[in-house]
Amino acid sequence: NNKPAEGKHYVVGTDTTFAPFEFRAANGDLVGIDMDLLHAIAQDQGFTVEVRSLGFDAAVQALQSRQVDAVMAGMSITEPRKQVFDFSDAYFDSGVQFAAPKTSSVNSLADLKGKRVAVKTGTAGADYADSVKTQYGFSTVAFGQTADMVNDVSTGNSAAYIDDFPVVAYSIQQGAPMKLIGEKAPAGSYGMAVNKGTDPELIAAFNQGLANIRANGEYDRVLAKYLGEQG
Ligand code: GLN
Repeated sequence: NNKPAEGKHYVVGTDTTFAPFEFRAANGDLVGIDMDLLHAIAQDQGFTVEVRSLGFDAAVQALQSRQVDAVMAGMSITEPRKQVFDFSDAYFDSGVQFAAPKTSSVNSLADLKGKRVAVKTGTAGADYADSVKTQYGFSTVAFGQTADMVNDVSTGNSAAYIDDFPVVAYSIQQGAPMKLIGEKAPAGSYGMAVNKGTDPELIAAFNQGLANIRANGEYDRVLAKYLGEQG
């Protein structure tokens, strides 16, 4: 029954528009799967959090410059990141996929030849796009926020964008006039990150809290709240 981070307070950086993981509800509250899981884990483990909605790359940079203690932002656990960050246990399986306007003539990655694809700075999706752009003959343009990528596609400047599969799928389910292109590519499950070696108590507490909320049904309730029964 030992709670390694009990009584502690942490500042956690997150993304801005990354539904269903973090986004603003109509009333302005920052909500989503990451936010609900974080608050449930903090409550279970007796620590408190202040969440800062910074954008993905900005949150990762804030962590590296120690302006925040941790990042929870649909952040993929990848080998290069494990060189500089310690991750919690994985809490969500993800992947990346391209999307294009529903009405566009782009129906496959081959159709992106000679076209421009919007990516999000510092993300697994940007890395994946870079790894296949020569093969498919497209160029990339980087944005700081998912909303700005989507906007660049909506205005016709870019032919497609790439983001995490559950984020694209959620936006389509919510009525965004987009379609998925190509196959979902693996990009690592999500974990909460701290700077390497700096905060073993927070990682241990997060993992214990995650195990507890998986066992008591809270984890499933949070996923079902945002994803419906398939969550
Ligand atoms: N999962 C992706 C990554 O870690 C994107 C995260 C995000 O955009 N919030 O790079």
